[in-house]
Amino acid sequence: MFRFDAITVDSVREIKSGIKQLLSDKYSDMFPTDRKSKILIKPNLNSNMNALTGNTTDLRVVAAVIEYLQDCGYKAITIGEGTNSGYYRSNISVVQRLRYDELGLHYGVMIKDFNYSDTSPVSFERGVEAGVARECTEADFLINMPKIKTHFEAGMTVCLKNLIGCLVGQENKKKVHGALSDNIVNLNLAIKPNLHIVDGVISMEGLGPTRGTPLLTGVIFAGNDPYVVDLMCARFASFPYQKIGPLAAAKRRGIITDEHLNFVKTIPLERIYKFKPPTAGPLATFIHSPKRQKYFLAIRRTPLFNYLCSTEIVGKLLYMTGLRQDVFIRDEMQWEGLSLKKEKCTDCGICARYCPIEIELPRAFDKSAGIDRHWQEKCLQCLYCFSVCPKSAIEFHGTLGFMEEQERQYGEIIKRMVK
Ligand code: SF4
Ligand code: SF4
Repeated sequence: MFRFDAITVDSVREIKSGIKQLLSDKYSDMFPTDRKSKILIKPNLNSNMNALTGNTTDLRVVAAVIEYLQDCGYKAITIGEGTNSGYYRSNISVVQRLRYDELGLHYGVMIKDFNYSDTSPVSFERGVEAGVARECTEADFLINMPKIKTHFEAGMTVCLKNLIGCLVGQENKKKVHGALSDNIVNLNLAIKPNLHIVDGVISMEGLGPTRGTPLLTGVIFAGNDPYVVDLMCARFASFPYQKIGPLAAAKRRGIITDEHLNFVKTIPLERIYKFKPPTAGPLATFIHSPKRQKYFLAIRRTPLFNYLCSTEIVGKLLYMTGLRQDVFIRDEMQWEGLSLKKEKCTDCGICARYCPIEIELPRAFDKSAGIDRHWQEKCLQCLYCFSVCPKSAIEFHGTLGFMEEQERQYGEIIKRMVK
């Protein structure tokens, strides 16, 4: 039987209380009875752009699920993800840049980058076999936690496409690109998450996954069937499901049935948006057309092309022409701390709504306020508070490194959005 639920949320408190209530009221019967069971959380850590840009799963949403699991007594919790190939190829740890390693330390849960996992074989189209992370096939309970975003190749990406991150390293991800939509469906036939919890707190519209615009949509969706949840997300974004590659493939193959479509029609949605479509530039559109894409992929797989792509100059050229969405900046952030410019702070409380571990901001900056003086040692260094402050009252000390690019592209958009 299909299950689907939606809650509306805004602040970290609402996210945590809303998710805990939802899971305990509607989904607790699905969780394993043995508290020693291996629970795997699979967020979407597509790139080093944090959740405020609409690109990756929000630390606040994952924190809420971990707290629920720990309240229930589960001990063997792992967060696992095989991040975008380009970062992996460039030896950049997205897990670390998004501060998921710090979230793991904070809650005492394991973090695993699937790009370095042992593999289990899965069969794909045209006789291809590729390896998925063994953690995914060995978990007792798998929670899929995607982000809602438009995507210039797939149309939209939510539950179904999020499983691409279960493939180990660039070598296995590349193998499925030839028939991407069908292979995403194949992946979902091989790995079947028990539960899907979708982060729609800040979504992405337009040229996703990494050049779109964040949209404050304030929802969390949950369900037990990825096709139903993705169809609901398509409705939520007013995006025709027939234009979403994996959903169209699943319908053509008879995996999405009238039962799915009828169920989706009956569920009321409190919020419905009209997402801007992911329209790529003329060159990217030309090359990625289904008729020509196989030739591009054949070139992309050659060692010479791979080498050229790893050079800065070709990387910039690909980015400028829209053929590559990411810039792989190698500079890490150097953190020396945060401080408050009191004269700028209006005590609006926005920063506190965004802190994943609920540090009492901005009061924590006031040494006489009686807040734990060691809060900066516990701080995840996620910079959510710094990015959302509309008055730029939180001062960052150190070097922003790769985060400078996010601030340049999204800083003002984020501040306007959260007000
Ligand atoms: S968001 Fe900025 S202005 Fe608002 S309370 Fe926090 S520090 Fe002060
Ligand atoms: S204080 Fe700011 S940087 Fe630290 S965890 Fe909270 S939101 Fe992130």
